Amino acid sequence: MVSHPASGKAPSPASPPNSLSPSRAADFMQCPLLYRFRVIDRLPEKPTPAATRGTVVHAVLERLFDAPAAERSVRRARSLVVREWERLLAKRPELAELFTQDGRAAPGEGAADGTELAQWLARAEELVERWFSLEDPTRLEPAERELFVEARLESGLRLRGIIDRVDVAPTGEVRIVDYKTGKAPRPQYAAEALFQMKFYALVLWRLRGTIPRRLQLVYLGSADVLTYDPDENDLRGVERKLLALWEAIRQATETGDWRPRPGPLCGWCAHQALCPEFGGTPPPYPLMIQPRLPLEPDGGRGDGTGSGTGTGGEGGGHS
Ligand code: SF4
Repeated sequence: MVSHPASGKAPSPASPPNSLSPSRAADFMQCPLLYRFRVIDRLPEKPTPAATRGTVVHAVLERLFDAPAAERSVRRARSLVVREWERLLAKRPELAELFTQDGRAAPGEGAADGTELAQWLARAEELVERWFSLEDPTRLEPAERELFVEARLESGLRLRGIIDRVDVAPTGEVRIVDYKTGKAPRPQYAAEALFQMKFYALVLWRLRGTIPRRLQLVYLGSADVLTYDPDENDLRGVERKLLALWEAIRQATETGDWRPRPGPLCGWCAHQALCPEFGGTPPPYPLMIQPRLPLEPDGGRGDGTGSGTGTGGEGGGHS
């Protein structure tokens, strides 16, 4: 059995997907083969400095609210960066590979001048500090932080994810907030960015019976805040889109037909070497392929969206 190059652990056995998170939904929309590699094959991906910094920054913004409101200062937040990095490193020692022991960059991770780790931490502190120009944590009292949510739609499809922050106004109105360490998208890509937030809004609506009043994306990379107030039509539209997506995933799972869809993000794909678009060969499909009926009647869709069929397996998708 292949072992995880970073953790040394054997990967968990392949199983059909049984739920959908915003990131995996985005994967499938970007490239079905990428979704397969991540969800079905569960191929390991090496951590990157940028993604790891995102994890640290999120942890800092969460932890800062442990302090009383008046003590949520820039200084305290900056000081949390190293603490959260060390805490993360203790949980995931493989992250040490991002930097050599003396703080230099690992090969291929930038200038090996002995200051790489310090620069990386300084950048994280900068992002944390920038947040204070966008929101004032001394005036916020989040109802929830890093909230795991999961809801089952009538069709059986399970939606799940983790919401960075939920604010509830004295009037009861709910605001969902998500932090991004990157830059805000250009206006023509804003809809894609909001899709994740509408996904969460749909889950909260299904769980609590009330549509969140506002969705708020906080871009620390460019100091932008993107907000959107969803309505019932929006969320019903997202639900329809997710059901169609899940049906496409179900069919691909059963047939093993996961098409690569090359695009500008291929440069970031950790699995290029296995991708036919780049001369690679995917590993053997680890699930049983179910032959298609020669002619499928209209009603062949069934609900088939997670409560049974090939998608009702054990716990799989995670955000
Ligand atoms: S390299 Fe591009 S086309 Fe190939 S699997 Fe990755 S995202 Fe898909």
